[in-house]
Amino acid sequence: MRNDMECTESHSKMSAFADGELDAATAGRLTQHLAHCPDCAKACEQLLALRAAVGQHGMRHAAPAALQQRLRQALQEEGKAAKGAKATPRGRKWAQLPWAWINFALAGASTAAFAVTLALYLSVPSDAERLDQEIVASHFRSLMPDHLADVASSDQHTVKPWFSGKLDFSPPVVDLAQTGFPLVGGRLDYIKQRPVAALAYRRHQHVLNLYVWPDKALRDAPPRLTVMHGYHLIRWSRSGMEYRLISDLNVPELMDFERQLTAQIDKEGLP
Ligand SMILES: [Zn+2]
Repeated sequence: MRNDMECTESHSKMSAFADGELDAATAGRLTQHLAHCPDCAKACEQLLALRAAVGQHGMRHAAPAALQQRLRQALQEEGKAAKGAKATPRGRKWAQLPWAWINFALAGASTAAFAVTLALYLSVPSDAERLDQEIVASHFRSLMPDHLADVASSDQHTVKPWFSGKLDFSPPVVDLAQTGFPLVGGRLDYIKQRPVAALAYRRHQHVLNLYVWPDKALRDAPPRLTVMHGYHLIRWSRSGMEYRLISDLNVPELMDFERQLTAQIDKEGLP
């Protein structure tokens, strides 16, 4: 893929990228540009952080009940005004609200805060999406110069002990150089407001980040794929460990990585 993107185009595409709306080819060109342009990379990182922050500190808990109430009121008032004495029936479910009416109500709503609240509410991602965004942002940070590994080593016997004392669990660390995924190193990262193990692998020129943290409550779950911001994200859980794998590598090779990793973990009797 030729990297022909310039800073102007990169800036114009960034917000679509942060919203996960770019097609894979453009997202690929953009990430290539970002990998070589610290200014754009910084700008984009800030944008992703802002997006994640809105998700975390937005109106997630407060909005739905209050918002429904306000919408209902606004609808009733607009309904009365538009149809004489006829009010909107009470108890109408939020999901069933007709959007034409909502737009009508919005047009009649007097405060800008109302519109802002609605926009926030509609853009607030689910827990799973928010976690995916954190992973993407972290993966993205790791691609900046010197951010990939705190302990840079292809030797699992160097990387694994490095985590002890830094984490309250022992992450499974295996080298997959034999199967074409050499270990690059490990680093400490923060996901879901807790320290997790991040392991970096390489496949040709592609970087793979594998995130591992324990969650004893989780049942084993097979790999599932999400595509976000032009990256492939695979999640699974196994033996009380939660896994996230992210890369711009193609999906079949990523699935192959997951199989090799799991087989190697079993072979070495790791958790
Ligand atoms: Zn640039």
